[in-house]
Amino acid sequence: MKLTEQTWTDIAACETDLAVLPVGSTEQHGPHAPLGTDTLTATAVAEAGVDKYDGTAVLGPTVPVGVAAEHRQFPGTLWVSEDTFREYVRETIQSLTTHGWDRVVLVNGHGGNVDALRELCGTVVRESEAYAVPFTWFDADIYGDIEVDIRMGHGGPVETSVVQYTDPDLVREERIERAGKESTAGWGEWQSGVNLAYDSAEFTENGVVGDPREGGAAAGEQLLDSAATALAELLDAVERRDTTRPRRRD
Ligand SMILES: [Zn+2]
Repeated sequence: MKLTEQTWTDIAACETDLAVLPVGSTEQHGPHAPLGTDTLTATAVAEAGVDKYDGTAVLGPTVPVGVAAEHRQFPGTLWVSEDTFREYVRETIQSLTTHGWDRVVLVNGHGGNVDALRELCGTVVRESEAYAVPFTWFDADIYGDIEVDIRMGHGGPVETSVVQYTDPDLVREERIERAGKESTAGWGEWQSGVNLAYDSAEFTENGVVGDPREGGAAAGEQLLDSAATALAELLDAVERRDTTRPRRRD
């Protein structure tokens, strides 16, 4: 049930304690994929997962700007600080819980949000009555049934494929060949297991990590379906979870 499409009287009658809040980002995704890629994919996975889930979950609006300063050299990229992001998302969860939706799953579409989301959800669980957990769709167990062997990069085959399937008009197909040729294989500049780089512009010229030519709309359809299944299973587990806090050992 999409929160933004309901009236307050309709949503008041909705009996569930489960909410889903998609979290995206607005940032460069190479010359071929739109700046809204992470927001589009988080929204698509959240919608498909809520559809697949047997129970009822309230689907909140997608948070469009995240922790993305690592892409700031590329025009169009927007970001907020981790502090602002944590506070904003935490308070949004708090407002959901005010209405009785006190089991919240965040569906995340951006790698830069991962650490902050895990931390803020931990704070929610430890310091309030609510339960919250982040689901970063591309880090979930979704690759087992996909026909091509593709891995997450940035503007790479995984997220490009999903947008090719969900919003084909937004992917510049004629630029994929060159974007792939000029892409970087891995994320960062590594020494002794340490990433020396902070910004993506330090190790990629066109902003692309991983080769988008390896994917396509068919792979995107499979990825979306697999992510939706994983999310539906997670929603079921969160709904059934005993959220009583563990007793203090003595
Ligand atoms: Zn992305």
